[in-house]
Amino acid sequence: MNHSDLQIMFYGKNIAQNDVKVSDGVIIKEVQKTENPNYIFVTIETKNVTLDEFTFSFLKNNKLTFTQKYSLKNRKENSRYRKSFDSSDVIYLIMSDRFANGNPNNDSSTSTAEKANRNNPGGRHGGDIAGMIKNLDYIKELGATALWPTPICEDNDETYSYHGYGQSDVYKIDPRYGTNEEYLQFSNELHKRGMKNIMDYVTNHWGWKHWMYKDLPTRDWVHQFPKFTNSNYRMTTQFDINASKRDAKYCADGWFVPSMPDLNQSNPLVLNYLTQNAIWWIEYADLDGFRVDTYSYNDKEGIAKWTKAITDEYPNFNIVGEVWMYDQAHMAYWQKDSKIAAIQSYNSYLPSVMDFTLQEQIHNGVFNEDKQEWRNGMVKIYENFTNDFLYPNTNNLLVFFENHDTSRLNEIYKNNFDKYKMAMTLINTIRGIPQIYYGSEIGMAGDKGKGDADIRRDFPGGWNGDSNNAFTKSGRTVEQQKFFDFTSKLLNWRKNKTVIHNGKTTHYIPENNVYVYFRHNEKESVMVIINNSNETQKFKTDRFQENILNFTSGKDVISDKNIDLKKEITIEAKSSMILELK
Ligand code: CA
Repeated sequence: MNHSDLQIMFYGKNIAQNDVKVSDGVIIKEVQKTENPNYIFVTIETKNVTLDEFTFSFLKNNKLTFTQKYSLKNRKENSRYRKSFDSSDVIYLIMSDRFANGNPNNDSSTSTAEKANRNNPGGRHGGDIAGMIKNLDYIKELGATALWPTPICEDNDETYSYHGYGQSDVYKIDPRYGTNEEYLQFSNELHKRGMKNIMDYVTNHWGWKHWMYKDLPTRDWVHQFPKFTNSNYRMTTQFDINASKRDAKYCADGWFVPSMPDLNQSNPLVLNYLTQNAIWWIEYADLDGFRVDTYSYNDKEGIAKWTKAITDEYPNFNIVGEVWMYDQAHMAYWQKDSKIAAIQSYNSYLPSVMDFTLQEQIHNGVFNEDKQEWRNGMVKIYENFTNDFLYPNTNNLLVFFENHDTSRLNEIYKNNFDKYKMAMTLINTIRGIPQIYYGSEIGMAGDKGKGDADIRRDFPGGWNGDSNNAFTKSGRTVEQQKFFDFTSKLLNWRKNKTVIHNGKTTHYIPENNVYVYFRHNEKESVMVIINNSNETQKFKTDRFQENILNFTSGKDVISDKNIDLKKEITIEAKSSMILELK
């Protein structure tokens, strides 16, 4: 490893009463003991170790009490410079328990408390890694290239454990999802298909059933208060120069919910545990990226060190953080090398953040605004991108209109296919990395107002006996096929369009609720037209001359129609065109 120190945590009753020695050929750099005698942290230097296996000896009064073998495994070739996800990808987000049940035998396990009950909307339904593997060809046919399943490590909560964000063992895949070996197999199957595995990693908290929470190595391993203290969720306090110290502290140190102890990333032992665990998963499961939960609720300095340690070890590794804020300056603050954050001498080192302000406009109904006013209709979308100067890297923004924590697009727009097409066109042609949420591509809806279960419904066809199987063409309804065909055509076209992946964006002030932008490089140009008005619109192309240049026509990617750029362009109400200029 580039960083070759390894800290090993030993756990056992009164283990700290021992001294530690190790086989010749290995150097112990440090032994740390804490106020809890059941732990010892031993740091070794791994760089020049040639032994496949070596032995730690534990001695009390110079008498051997026990030994423990340990081994260092070989890394995969070129592990350090592994590729990661980027703007050439489309990410498919899966609610792991709700996609497909590939192995009904693992729906419940003896080692975990909550048993499967598909009749309980908030219960465990049996979706698993085997189900994801079984349907990778479906996702490939759709045109998505990277998978982000919600967390799959063990979450042993008695109820509501399916969401997986309250983990009880971060080295072990939850048996109801499969095994560690199956998770590695999942990566291998993705890689065979030229696709990528993004792990949903949680640094901010563990679940209260985590084995270590029952016997904390140090009292300050988690943030403790005299009585339960919630985070105030006001992430702005983390940089607001007018914020009180109290508010800033309670945002980061307060607990997200009562069942999730808030980890203290300012404790070097905690930070190292999280860093080494993350690196272990990258190596073990051959990962292609992380999505980090509740990024801006972590200790600010600690999470920057975590992110830097991982990206130092893997220079091409991409990490997207959940920074759920409502202002571009606030989100841009958290992206690596932010000049705004530099004002406060801060650098998160986080390569990618999520474009939540774009999501917010789509979520709040911009495609229902038929008439353009000074700040309404497509102007809202246009204005979102006028703030792009704040971001250090706009190609590394996640663009999306929904996820597992929001109402679904098809709920908000009542399964209106025209509005679906406009939204899908936008996120797949604008700068950044599109992220779509399982099931929307077949028209699935879901209302956050009715609770999380409604936005995390089972994918039809994922369970034996499902009457509707949307994984196959013959199983889809006419309506599902309509959504799928459009999405698949768009995503598959996008796959090889470098001009969309990293071309420059030039956009024009919307007129009559029609938004026009170009994605262009030295070789190619794509003109995107979104007509959000409820009338057919006609316009001349003169005002786009600086992008139209000598191009004379454009071929619409979806309809294959040729559009003459020298004549007036006609676009139907509530529709979009993606013109490859010729
Ligand atoms: Ca199962």
